[in-house]
Amino acid sequence: MVQDPRETQLELAPKNRVAIFYENGGPDKISIKDIDNVKQSELNPGEVLVRVLFTGVCHSDLHALQGDWPFPPKLPLIGGHEGAGIVVALGQGASEYVQVGDRVGIKWIADACLNCEYCRLSHEINCPQYKPSGYAVDGTFQQYVRHTARYLTKIPDGLELSQAASILCAGVTIYRALKEASLQPGNWVVIPGSGGGLGHLGVQYARNAGLRVIGIDTGSEKQTMSQQLGCEVFIDFKTTSDVATAIKDATGGIGAHAAVVAAASPAAYELALDYIRPRGTLVIVGMPNSILPVSIFKTVLMTHKIVGSAVGNRQDAVEALEIAARGMVKVHFTLKGLSDLPSVFEDMIQGRIAGRIVLDVDK
Ligand SMILES: [Zn+2]
Ligand SMILES: [Zn+2]
Repeated sequence: MVQDPRETQLELAPKNRVAIFYENGGPDKISIKDIDNVKQSELNPGEVLVRVLFTGVCHSDLHALQGDWPFPPKLPLIGGHEGAGIVVALGQGASEYVQVGDRVGIKWIADACLNCEYCRLSHEINCPQYKPSGYAVDGTFQQYVRHTARYLTKIPDGLELSQAASILCAGVTIYRALKEASLQPGNWVVIPGSGGGLGHLGVQYARNAGLRVIGIDTGSEKQTMSQQLGCEVFIDFKTTSDVATAIKDATGGIGAHAAVVAAASPAAYELALDYIRPRGTLVIVGMPNSILPVSIFKTVLMTHKIVGSAVGNRQDAVEALEIAARGMVKVHFTLKGLSDLPSVFEDMIQGRIAGRIVLDVDK
């Protein structure tokens, strides 16, 4: 692996380049500026300073900017929660978890209490006290992030930091969602948006778990990509008149064992209930702010399961990164700079982004 030369530069620069906004709104609210960096003496016990080199841009970051979720983000805010970098300074007691020079990842969950019933069961996303990165605390759209040592994820040596970035949210999220489907090797799983950000990672994780994958997307580019990544069946939703029937035809007439849906459109969730087989599972990962109409009668008759899944726990993150480090999963991304963040959000609003965007925070 070719290491980024910056991985061995462990000094604390006096300034920290950040992308910050002071009020919610559109991409024009973001300022890119240099602020005074944190000094080692200012770190709280258990905290470290992470020199971020790469950060992904997730759809949740756009919601933080727009402030359109039911719970508002802190302001001013430095967003971002898919960061990969190097530990450059330790607060008191932090060496129990990480050392200076360690390659680490920052995820959606920046910290949780680790002491409530949910945390004890490794469901930190349900911890009433969990803190989201780039939302309740400043995130990865900056060169230096203060972070709790105990909640960082170590990045395996064999994985480039630019690859690791998107695994830390998109990869972990789809990996965990596949687990929530409780499938066995050889089972059929449908992944709508198989050529998209979460979808293309889902196809690869599913194949790695021995699943048979049906991808749904549109256009020859996404078809080629979906098939190359491992979709045994590809369905173009624009040229297929009846997607549910096409899926049943491909699965012996009874439908898929599960659908893992991360789509932004509510219709994709309703459709999934028509093509999963009896005892099949619909895993909901996307967050359109809408209602899913479900037939109570049919749910009982078909003994369907409908489950929600959000990011993953610390172990899910370790596993998702290890699988990528072994070369079984590759992120297809476009590399841009931190100064491109406003235009990336503009593209996201217009639906112009294919695959994942990763930012080099120094550019
Ligand atoms: Zn995310
Ligand atoms: Zn907790």
